[in-house]
Amino acid sequence: WGILYLVPTPIGNLEDMTYRAVRILGEVDAIAAEDTRHTGILLKHFDIKKPLISYHEHNKDEKGAYIIELLLEGQSIACVSDAGMPAISDPGADLVIKAIEAGITVVPLPGANAALTALIASGLDTKSFAFAGFLPKRGKHRVEELQRLSQVTGTLMFYEAPHRLQEVLQDMYEAFGNRSITVARELTKKFETFVRTDLESLVNDLEQLTYKGEFVLIVGGADTVESDASAVSDEPVSYVDAVQA
Ligand code: SAM
Repeated sequence: WGILYLVPTPIGNLEDMTYRAVRILGEVDAIAAEDTRHTGILLKHFDIKKPLISYHEHNKDEKGAYIIELLLEGQSIACVSDAGMPAISDPGADLVIKAIEAGITVVPLPGANAALTALIASGLDTKSFAFAGFLPKRGKHRVEELQRLSQVTGTLMFYEAPHRLQEVLQDMYEAFGNRSITVARELTKKFETFVRTDLESLVNDLEQLTYKGEFVLIVGGADTVESDASAVSDEPVSYVDAVQA
């Protein structure tokens, strides 16, 4: 049987492609891609020529079954998405389940991911965090989901489209009250920016953000509302003292 490789691709900066990702894409028999045209450009950049199989949200059942057949015939297949980790808010998760059910070996490669890239520079708690992905598009469902998430301890990570950002920030403020938030925009790209603020200040001055590009929202969890301020005022001071002593 073949192997199913899960291959991350850059979220903006082509230098974030790993050596291993390039090697695996060059070695497999075919590449299952969310958007074959988009992936074609990436492959051209790295001088890789491979058959591409279109695999996306709307054909995942039939194409998934076809890819499993190829794997059972002994072909090795790489699954890539448009950007970042396949299966994280992207097609691929279904294929992984099908492959595991069929007894096929699944090999994940580490690499670029927008949520974790935003989290590590957010300044918010990284010891415990929850990935919430895209919120429901419809107002009522979104409010319900935010109310559920308001109980979650640990930092929350969201993906959001630029044209929905303002309404989502307002819904978050209503559901969560005031919390720390870091808005990470255009990660790894020319206009990468971080706005580290709180929900109250954002909804009172929505103009402080530029609503163009790609965004990750990192929001303090239910347990960090109180402790955020004390963590900033106490801990670094005593830590610096200890180091200097
Ligand atoms: N699979 C990807 C990953 O591992 O991060 C996520 C794909 S999801 C369809 C696309 C969303 O990820 C965007 O709407 C945005 O919220 C976020 N995203 C992707 N690239 C980004 C970037 N360069 N800067 C900020 N957010 C980004």
